[in-house]
Amino acid sequence: MPEQQLRIAALYPDLLNIYADRGNLLLLERRCAWRGIACTITPLSLGDRLDPDAHDLVYLGGGQDRDQQLCAEDLTTVKAEGMHAHAARGGAVLAVCGGFQLLGHHYEPVAGDRIPGIGLLDLHTERGDGRLIGNVAIEVDGRTLAGFENHAGRTVLAPGQAPLGPVLAGHGNTGSSGSEGARTGNVLGTYLHGPLLPKNAWFADLLIAIGLGVDPEDLAPLDDRFEDAAHAAARRAAGV
Ligand code: GLN
Repeated sequence: MPEQQLRIAALYPDLLNIYADRGNLLLLERRCAWRGIACTITPLSLGDRLDPDAHDLVYLGGGQDRDQQLCAEDLTTVKAEGMHAHAARGGAVLAVCGGFQLLGHHYEPVAGDRIPGIGLLDLHTERGDGRLIGNVAIEVDGRTLAGFENHAGRTVLAPGQAPLGPVLAGHGNTGSSGSEGARTGNVLGTYLHGPLLPKNAWFADLLIAIGLGVDPEDLAPLDDRFEDAAHAAARRAAGV
């Protein structure tokens, strides 16, 4: 059997990297290594094109409005075509918080001052009064995803755009819509971070499985005592 390989592209790791984004990548790398799956992480920053056939999973982290602005210019000019082609052939994308906002049509941190997105997800983000901060839990595919959110943006899904899941506890996309994140095919966006994947190893495995084109059930089981404890603690923090 040929060696399995997960090829990850980490977009703007020098700019969109708040709240343990590096930890999310490390967890993917470790869970692959423990299973004998080769894993490569290719950083792509400003000016680097995205080859739509070169990656199984594209990761975008969170960032401050100023860094988002810089990345948005590059994303919409240098990488948009590659991102759309990657998604169209079923490539996986995980975008967290600031990165999630950039997958929509635009983010308007200040009224009249729009940061453009690439429209991979049918949504836009507006500024609201105050930040939405705290522990949060949502339901994804019948399972619980638990994390922490901290965003000023309110993300409005277009009719027909599926969320990542319903909010079980916390604020979610707008604080009142009851939905969190967004998902179209293998393109997933969420406000959950801090650190998302180490707290939800099952979700990391879902991404690995999508990236490899296998069923999550087919991944070799791991000793997840620490991961299970981290997940339970994140759920408790969110009150679910
Ligand atoms: N700057 C965005 C907001 O505040 C995203 C923040 C983040 O990535 N944590 O809404």
